[in-house]
Amino acid sequence: MNLGNVVVLTGAGISAESGLRTFRDNDGLWEEHRVEEVATPYAWARDPGLVWRFYQERRRQLGSVVPNPAHYALVDLARISEGFTLVTQNVDDLHERAGSKGAIHMHGQLRMLRCEGSGISEERMGADDLTDGFAECRCCEVGSRMRPDIVWFYEQPMHMEEIYRAIGECSVFIVVGSSGHVYPAADLVTIARRRGARTVLVNLEEPMNVGEFDEVHLGPAGDVLPGLVLDWSRHGDQK
Ligand code: NAD
Repeated sequence: MNLGNVVVLTGAGISAESGLRTFRDNDGLWEEHRVEEVATPYAWARDPGLVWRFYQERRRQLGSVVPNPAHYALVDLARISEGFTLVTQNVDDLHERAGSKGAIHMHGQLRMLRCEGSGISEERMGADDLTDGFAECRCCEVGSRMRPDIVWFYEQPMHMEEIYRAIGECSVFIVVGSSGHVYPAADLVTIARRRGARTVLVNLEEPMNVGEFDEVHLGPAGDVLPGLVLDWSRHGDQK
């Protein structure tokens, strides 16, 4: 059964069952830190050591977590969709490790570091890159310090043109595991709906923007999403 063009937006909730903590489930804390302490350019300017150690811990953590059934369900969903675009707010690599191709990381990726001199990003996951000492680039004549290749609060998300283009062409827009607090990601469902897409939510609880969804499935994504995808593979999205 063909679903047409599908765009999926995932948030921290899809990786929760893999053992990666979200923001909103911990009273606004991410791994015991307030976002202002570790996820803004001001934090990097004020205390780069703290920010670096925080992200190095998150980067090392990737080695000890694995994708869960929700990540794998999206690989299956891609197979039964005419066109498929996966957009993620997540900075982990669990979609790639489940087998998803071409995921658009609008908030950057933990696996990458960005040279502060040239702005060039590269994958740096060797043992030497994962220590608490700052990493240096390989692109400048005299090595520059590297920063996490993460879109912090107050910075511009990546690949927005590509994301808006895909949304403009989709017939189904699905959000999995996102609180609807972080913009512009939280607005994408509204845009998709105005363009005529059917909007579907899979989340543990009702998010801020629940009113924007035509279909709401509450529960852990790892339980809910595989069943939905199986259903769609048998019957399409016509209910
Ligand atoms: P969020 O933390 O604001 O919200 C997570 C949402 O997921 C909540 O609504 C919660 O109810 C839901 N949820 C929790 N467990 C779930 C489960 N098992 N199944 C389904 N839903 C579940 O996340 P957000 O909206 O993605 O925004 C947070 C920002 O923090 C993102 O921009 C992201 O860059 C960053 N972040 C990323 C990661 C990651 O890469 N894994 C983890 C934490 C934070």
